[in-house]
Amino acid sequence: MKRAFNFGPGPSALPLSVLQETAAEWLDFAGTGMSVLEVSHRGAEYEAVHKDAQARFKRLLGLGDDYTVLMVGGGASTQFAAVPLNLLRPGQTADYLVTGYWAKKAYKEAQLFGTVNLAADTAVEGAYCRVPRAEECLFTPGAAYVHLTSNNTIFGSQYPSFPKPAAPLVADMSSDLLSRPIDARAFALIYAGAQKNLGPAGVTVVIIRNDLLERCRDGMPTMLHYPTLAKADSLHNTPPCFAIYLMGKVLKWVEEQGGLEGMGRRSKQKAEALYGAIDRHAGFYRAPVDKDSRSAMNVVFRLPSEELEKRFISEAKAQGMVGLKGHRSVGGVRASIYNGVEPAWVEALASFMEQFVRQHG
Ligand SMILES: *Cc1c(COP(=O)(O)O)cnc(C)c1O
Repeated sequence: MKRAFNFGPGPSALPLSVLQETAAEWLDFAGTGMSVLEVSHRGAEYEAVHKDAQARFKRLLGLGDDYTVLMVGGGASTQFAAVPLNLLRPGQTADYLVTGYWAKKAYKEAQLFGTVNLAADTAVEGAYCRVPRAEECLFTPGAAYVHLTSNNTIFGSQYPSFPKPAAPLVADMSSDLLSRPIDARAFALIYAGAQKNLGPAGVTVVIIRNDLLERCRDGMPTMLHYPTLAKADSLHNTPPCFAIYLMGKVLKWVEEQGGLEGMGRRSKQKAEALYGAIDRHAGFYRAPVDKDSRSAMNVVFRLPSEELEKRFISEAKAQGMVGLKGHRSVGGVRASIYNGVEPAWVEALASFMEQFVRQHG
């Protein structure tokens, strides 16, 4: 079997060792004589997995007992509603920084539940090529929270550093959590769907500071109410056990790679290989995102024509490199180089880019 060089935007590549370990335990999880898919979520064996994943998250992010790690279903998209339902009270305003497709979705969803202010919007003719500068963020005094999207998965931009508003900072980190060191303590709430950097689809992580947890609104749908989920330690109902189990293995792998420092070095090296190829052939490849907003997770670029883009994607596929098609809303090429993507695959793609420009440039 040859493993595909998977540059898909999500679900995405997982570390081979994680898949192998899962396969080895497939029929007998923790000596139970059952697959992990078959055991009770109330049993001691599963409970150990559940607690282990939460502890690893806190360790990796350098967070203590003043934060709670929730592991829930519904994807990051459900959090677009859960955040305002819990944190936005009548009479208050929530600020949103809109920098891309998902950021806009979060902003629109929040409008269903309360007063929302567009504190910054970097769109130019529908395209988002950068994150806002500090002076462009017009925060509401006394805002309930400020919401941002740390990495714009579709347009390929990422905050090199984060704004520092007075209000609690909430971030959708679905496509870059655990890919680089961050000051997690600067955030009141971080959420992320697992299927990009953390594991398989099915589990979403919500990391919330306890003082905010205590101030959440009541009377919300039970499964979206953070205090209810926290009180039951994310076991109010059946959690996505298998996704959590696999995510736990990815977290262990991240720790073995040197934690966030290690992942940060790896991400930077991979991103530089691709942006290097783009910049060396700037007359052929074109990166639409401003240099200081470039994403180290989703490298988006265009070729001189759509025909050449199609050809690039199909020739890459013939060489085992898959998932390179840009999002249907923006076109072009997008190489997603999340944590699970091997540096060697990225080197292969960078060489292919060189070869392609020699043939077609
Ligand atoms: C993929 C993605 C989402 C959507 O995640 P789901 O789990 O599919 O709901 C939200 N935000 C960002 C930044 C994403 O990359």
